[in-house]
Amino acid sequence: SRAHGRFFIGGNWKCNGTVESVTQLVKDLNAGSVPPADKVEIVVAPTFVHLDMVKKTLNPPFEIGAQDCWVGKGGAFTGEVSAEMLHDFGIPWVILGHSERRSLCREDDELVGQKCEYALSQGLKVIGCIGETLAQRESGHMFDVLDAQLRAIANHTSLGNWVNMVIAYEPVWAIGTGVVATPEQAQEAHAYVRKWISDNVSPDVAADLRLLYGGSVNESNCGTLANLEDVDGFLVGGASLQGASFISICNAE
Ligand code: PGA
Repeated sequence: SRAHGRFFIGGNWKCNGTVESVTQLVKDLNAGSVPPADKVEIVVAPTFVHLDMVKKTLNPPFEIGAQDCWVGKGGAFTGEVSAEMLHDFGIPWVILGHSERRSLCREDDELVGQKCEYALSQGLKVIGCIGETLAQRESGHMFDVLDAQLRAIANHTSLGNWVNMVIAYEPVWAIGTGVVATPEQAQEAHAYVRKWISDNVSPDVAADLRLLYGGSVNESNCGTLANLEDVDGFLVGGASLQGASFISICNAE
């Protein structure tokens, strides 16, 4: 739905790519036909290794994001990349709190909130990710989980910074599984998130905030999901590695 601002499509390339495959993907994206930037905002997130080559070769309207960054100022943090480095390098967006980082790298709600705060303070725009596991959903804890994840982010995000934030609802059971949320499941979760933001941050922020759905989005299911009242875009993993599929999803609305 376009009621809440420009439709937003994120492509999360995760830990994938060779020089050859990234060159081809950029070529395919550049050759694709996508809506103009005032209609749809499109951000792709390569690995840190590939950021430079993608930045040099990918044309507008595509924008670029990183997949994570360090929680604070850079320094003696072997293996990390800081928010100020990304900003200095000209990378406008960063994905934070992706479920793979929450589970595989043990990032908890508070750390994700702190990462959001620091990245925003350094001038980055943030795709903040939330979502419940299947066990959490089936045991009736989905809304508690979303509440805690949202609270940690909201505690670290000042009112004026929400304009630089989008929230991606990605049920963990739908990520990379081919099991996409039903339209009812997606709308229910998105409506909950929007009401939560309205009640706990502000009705104006809630009205403007873009809420992305992520989890097995592809060119066949994106049209129905894009029409839902509270779905304002997508965060796409697997299908974002296929130029033609990603281009179709960019035209979902
Ligand atoms: P998927 O991943 O589209 O491959 O399910 C989505 C994501 O993890 O952002």
